[in-house]
Amino acid sequence: MQYVSTRGLPGQSTRSFCDILLEGLAPDGGLYVPLAYPRVDGPTLSRWRALLEEQGYAALAHAVLTPYVDDIPSEDLLAMCRRAYTAEKFGDPQIVPVSRLSDGLWLGHLSNGPSAAFKDMAMQLLGELFEYQLQRTGRELNILGATSGDTGSSAEYAMLGKRGIRVFMMTPKGRMTPFQQAQMFTIDDPAIVNLAVDGVFDDCQDLVKAVSSDLEFKARRSIGAVNSINWARVVAQVVYYVACWLRVSAAVSSEDPDAQRVSFSVPTGNFGDILAGHVARTMGVPIGDLILATNENDVLDEFFRTGVYRVRGAVETYATSSPSMDISKASNFERFVFDLLGRDGARVAELFGTRLTTQGAFDLSADPAFAGARSTYGFCSGRSTHGDRVATIAAVHAADQVTIDPHTADAVTVARAKLACGEVEAPVVAMETALPVKFAATIQEALGRDPECPPRFAGLERLPRHVIDIDNDADKVKIFLDERLG
Ligand SMILES: *Cc1c(COP(=O)(O)O)cnc(C)c1O
Repeated sequence: MQYVSTRGLPGQSTRSFCDILLEGLAPDGGLYVPLAYPRVDGPTLSRWRALLEEQGYAALAHAVLTPYVDDIPSEDLLAMCRRAYTAEKFGDPQIVPVSRLSDGLWLGHLSNGPSAAFKDMAMQLLGELFEYQLQRTGRELNILGATSGDTGSSAEYAMLGKRGIRVFMMTPKGRMTPFQQAQMFTIDDPAIVNLAVDGVFDDCQDLVKAVSSDLEFKARRSIGAVNSINWARVVAQVVYYVACWLRVSAAVSSEDPDAQRVSFSVPTGNFGDILAGHVARTMGVPIGDLILATNENDVLDEFFRTGVYRVRGAVETYATSSPSMDISKASNFERFVFDLLGRDGARVAELFGTRLTTQGAFDLSADPAFAGARSTYGFCSGRSTHGDRVATIAAVHAADQVTIDPHTADAVTVARAKLACGEVEAPVVAMETALPVKFAATIQEALGRDPECPPRFAGLERLPRHVIDIDNDADKVKIFLDERLG
């Protein structure tokens, strides 16, 4: 498989999977996408079904990823999938189990990994791929990142113990939930460094950008990123759409599970999770609708309702009780728009490169391609608020004695609304993207008690902390890195 930029012109040069693995944006500012999506047919789906049943999630991951990763020997890729997706790390031999609520809505459990959020699904494999590629090329990598909570801990648990990799993660001081802080700061390893910045998440992000834009420093110190635009992360997530589809289609259709359409409701911030659903659907996995659920930060809901994409500034980005979706500019969205506009790189460059930077918005409502978001690609969207979240957590608990986290609650809220008005048909899988233990305050508000703490996290909050305060100043960050890296 070769990869091209979303802003490239016909005839642009192409890159292989390993070429783009450790890179961020394409040189023209676009995002890397496959030249074409591999297509799956009935016999492939049957083969995948047998693989998942007989050999498990890692074997399925290997099969789904193979056409995308053709520059790594097959047995090496399989070994990496087997190390990434183990029952020990995911607390369940199925890795991604599904369950059914009493109203018929399904939950796809993506959050059983080491950091209790769905980002582990991609990050665990990314850790393996990074280590493999660095060893092959004799390089080292110093990952510099910023997190509001979930990405940071997921990256740290994925990179922990990987040869040639160190992680420096900026966190907004005092702003993550107590459990998120405990998860990151109790990691005791010299290659994992937590930094607490006096500021908000955007300040942390700006520091990363400032340090990375010093190209001499970046090259000298081998600075890299694990951001959500990394194609390997997206493609790793395609696997769980396939796994959830296989499990739910088999449960609801005994006659011909491979013809059974299944829809997904996905709590969305950076458009990474649901983009993987779009890729799976475009490959030919029988996915019906892709329901995009936002919180009060509803940039994407607005786009799918109106055709207007208007990014928000910091003052218009609200701090909500589903904080991992408090995003005002969806970094993976460009990949979907590239497909929506018939893979017209010049047009994407104009919209994302020029229009967004000068006007902060673009409008596709008058473009005939916009209707394809619903009719061709199956997208619909909705928005959920704090009140909805709390009510849904309480209702699901009352009916099923199941506690869901606030992000999952956004997906459940929007899925139920779409089913009720007939806009989508069952079966629908709402993606569970975090465990409730990460967001105790909202669970307390909804249920009047703390969420259950899974046994593997018991006592975490009492372990010693490893975190270093740092000024909100890019030069000081560089000095710190120079000292640490010797
Ligand atoms: C990151 C995250 C999301 C949003 O996923 P995107 O890929 O950014 O759309 C939703 N829920 C949780 C718990 C997350 O950590």
